Amino acid sequence: MKETAVAQPASKYIPTIGLEIHAELATKSKMFCSCKNDPDEEKPNVNICPVCMGHPGTLPVLNREAIRHVLKMGHAVGGTIADFTEWDRKNYFYPDIPKGYQISQYKHPLVTGGAVAGVSTTRIHLEEDTAQSTHDISEKSLVNFNRAGVPLMELVTEPVIHDALTAGNFARELQLLLQYLGAGEANMEKGEMRVEANISVASPEDTAAGKFGTKTEVKNLNSFRSVERAIAYEIERQVKLIEAGEKIVQETRGWDEGKQKTFSQRAKESSHDYRYFPDPDIPKMKISEVPEFAPAALQKDMPELPAAKRARYAGDFGMTPKEVAMFIDTPELSAYFEGLDFNSSSEKKLVRLAVNYLLTDYVGLLKKDFGEADWVKKIDRIKLNHFGALVRLAQSGKINSRGAKDILAELYRNFENPADPEKIADEKGLIQKDIDLKPMVQKIVDENPAVVADYKAGKQAALQFFIGQGMKVSKGSANPEALKAAFIAVLG
Ligand code: ADP
Ligand code: ZN
Ligand code: MG
Repeated sequence: MKETAVAQPASKYIPTIGLEIHAELATKSKMFCSCKNDPDEEKPNVNICPVCMGHPGTLPVLNREAIRHVLKMGHAVGGTIADFTEWDRKNYFYPDIPKGYQISQYKHPLVTGGAVAGVSTTRIHLEEDTAQSTHDISEKSLVNFNRAGVPLMELVTEPVIHDALTAGNFARELQLLLQYLGAGEANMEKGEMRVEANISVASPEDTAAGKFGTKTEVKNLNSFRSVERAIAYEIERQVKLIEAGEKIVQETRGWDEGKQKTFSQRAKESSHDYRYFPDPDIPKMKISEVPEFAPAALQKDMPELPAAKRARYAGDFGMTPKEVAMFIDTPELSAYFEGLDFNSSSEKKLVRLAVNYLLTDYVGLLKKDFGEADWVKKIDRIKLNHFGALVRLAQSGKINSRGAKDILAELYRNFENPADPEKIADEKGLIQKDIDLKPMVQKIVDENPAVVADYKAGKQAALQFFIGQGMKVSKGSANPEALKAAFIAVLG
C-alpha cells in the first residue's frame, strides 16, 4: 500500500526554552575557606568553620582550583574568558544562607558566550552553594551546613531551545563536559548538577522576531527525564491557558515527580530584589595577570573533549553513532579499547573485529554478571594483551568466530589464571585444519546452477549465499575467508 504524505498543520505556538544549570565543583576545599568539600560526608555539620558559617570578622579566601575548573569549561564551550572579574553579594534571608548573602558573580562573570551541543551559552560564573535544609522532621527544620560554601558553577543559556529533547540533550552534554574536565561528578540524583528550565510559548511570527511570551521557571529538576517531561508539560499547560484566553503568570514552579506535573511555588523575584553589590572583602582580579589561569596553562591539562572524540571514533574507527555513544559515555571502556596496539589506519578490519568482540561479547558477559551500574569497574578482568591476541587470532582465520567466543568465555571465566588465547585454542581443538574444501564447494556449486548464473551476472549476494551454504554444510567449522577463496576458485 502506498502511503500518502499528510501535510502537518503549522503549529500555532513555538515554545522557547533557556536553561540555567548549577553544578557543584570537585575541589579539595570549599570556595572561600579551607573546609573539606565532601559531597559524600554523611554526618551533618562537620565540614564547617567560622568563614562558611558567616561569623563576623572572618574573611573569605578565593579557591583557585574552582576558578580553574570554570575557566577550563569556558575554553571547552568556546567562550570568552573575562579579563577583569569581581564578586558580588546577593542578599536574601533564609536559614540555608548563614551570612544573609550568597557570594556570586553578577556583572563580571568569568566566561561569556560559547556553545554546547549547538545551543548558545550566555555566561558561566562561579558562586557558593547553600546549606541543605530538611523540613519534614516533626515540625522542625534541620540545616546541614556541610554544603554551605561549596564551589558552584552556574551556566546560563540563551533562549534558543525550542523543544524538550534538545534541552535534555544539552544537559547530558554539559554533564559529560564536567566529567571529562574532572570539574565535577555532576550526578543529578545527588543534586551535584541541578537544572532550571525557563519556558515560554509565542506565535511563530513573534518567536521569529525575538518576541517571546511570558516565561515560567521550573526549578531543581534532578534527572534528564524530568527536565524533558517538565518542559513538555509546561508547554502544554501554557498553550492551554492561552487558548482559554488566560494570561501566563511569571513565576517559579516546581516539578512533582509523582504527579508528573509542574506546580506554582512563588512569584518570581527579580534581580533588584537581591540588592547586588560588589563584595568588599574579596580582591578584584585581572585573570590575565595570574599565570595559572593563562590559556596555555589550562589547555595543558585539558583532555580530549567529547565532540572531538566522537568525530575521531566515527572517522578513524568507522563506528556507528550507537557504538560511538557507548565509548563516549564510558571513558574506562575507551581507555581499554585505545590500549590495544592495533593500527587504526592499516589494520581497519582488526579494529572492526575488536569493536564487535568488545561491545557485544565482552561487555555482554560483564553486564550479565555485574549489572548496568558496575560492569565497567571490571573492564580489566580480561587482560588487554590477551584480548588483543584473541582478536588477532580470530582475524588470522586460524579459529572461527564460534571458537573465538569460546576462548573469550574461557579468558573471562578463568580470569585469575588465564592461559594465552592460542594455547586455549590448541587445547580445545579450535584451530581450523586446512581441510580440503574443494569437494564440498564443488558439490554446492553443482547443486545451485541458478545462483551460479547470478554470480556470473555480477551479483555479489550470490557469493554470500555460497559462503553461507558452505558454513551450513561444514556445520560452522569452515573459515569464511577460506570458503570465499575456494568458491571464487571453483566458480572461475
Ligand atoms: P531572569 O532575569 O528572569 O532570571 P534572565 O534574562 O536572566 O531572566 O534569563 C534566565 C534564563 O531564562 C536564560 O536561560 C534565558 O535564556 C531564559 N529566558 C529569558 N527569557 C525567556 C523567555 N521569554 N522564554 C524562555 N526562556 C527565557
Ligand atoms: Zn568553612
Ligand atoms: Mg536569571
